[in-house]
Amino acid sequence: MAEPYLGNPLRCETVLRKFGFSFRKKFGQNFLIDSDVLEGIVDAAAVDEEDVVLEIGPGIGSLTQYLASRARRVISVEIDRALLPILDYTLADWDNVRIINNDILKTDIRAIAGEENGGRPLKVIANLPYYITTPIIMKLFENGAPISSVTVMVQKEVADRLAAKPGSKAYGAITLAVQYYASVEPVIEVGPESFIPAPKVSSAVIRLNRYEEKPVTAAHEDILFKLIRGSFNQRRKTFVNGAANFEGLSYTKDDIRAALAHAGLPESIRGEVMSLAEFAAVADYLGENS
Ligand code: SAM
Repeated sequence: MAEPYLGNPLRCETVLRKFGFSFRKKFGQNFLIDSDVLEGIVDAAAVDEEDVVLEIGPGIGSLTQYLASRARRVISVEIDRALLPILDYTLADWDNVRIINNDILKTDIRAIAGEENGGRPLKVIANLPYYITTPIIMKLFENGAPISSVTVMVQKEVADRLAAKPGSKAYGAITLAVQYYASVEPVIEVGPESFIPAPKVSSAVIRLNRYEEKPVTAAHEDILFKLIRGSFNQRRKTFVNGAANFEGLSYTKDDIRAALAHAGLPESIRGEVMSLAEFAAVADYLGENS
């Protein structure tokens, strides 16, 4: 099996020059050039020879080489057509990689799991394009596609939000949306110098482990997610005001006060201190009684 060789700035620059590649900011292109970080990602995802990996945005194939050296198979979805000849070149030594030229948001992940892994779960691993981190993460979880874990590089600020606890500044709608589906494990922090071009912000790798059995479930998930959005839309307002003003919901303040009382919560409470279980209790009471 070939050894990965792209975790090195000089080699990456040589490849980029050979193909006359110009970075496209609109695609969030910051390529990893640090072998410790690349190995750290593959280790954090605990990739082994049984795994079929879905990689989002292979770039010039740096992480792909490390994944292909450890996994049974790697499926990499890349939106930028200009990278395809480069990937052909950098991945020529691996025969277990399939490149799909598509937008990940328009890609049928269930179909990939069906074709490539007999419908069994994939591991998603990526250095994500930062301009669409949240839509990608939500797509991975919301559609119920077979995915066992998601190990991704994101902006440090996003990693903090995903791992946040109730009452902290970083706690928000995305925290709750992700923690409904998965446990969140911070892995490593990564400085701008590990990428070309260097991003303006610090980054971090996180691993999200999809629950086989969710610790908190809501019978009325649609209401749960609307309550979450409503209360963080107007963060400084009380939960009652945030939820009553949210246009996607049509409960009166009295309905919401009754649901809070039922969950043992004061009517002055703000959403930013409520746990996922408390949101779910309120959502289910509203779904059944109002
Ligand atoms: N994995 C490479 C690495 O670590 O060096 C590249 C990571 S770079 C941060 C993000 C990659 O995602 C780029 O190659 C970019 O072209 C690609 N990308 C951006 N938007 C995408 C989308 N909607 N679907 C698939 N790939 C996308």
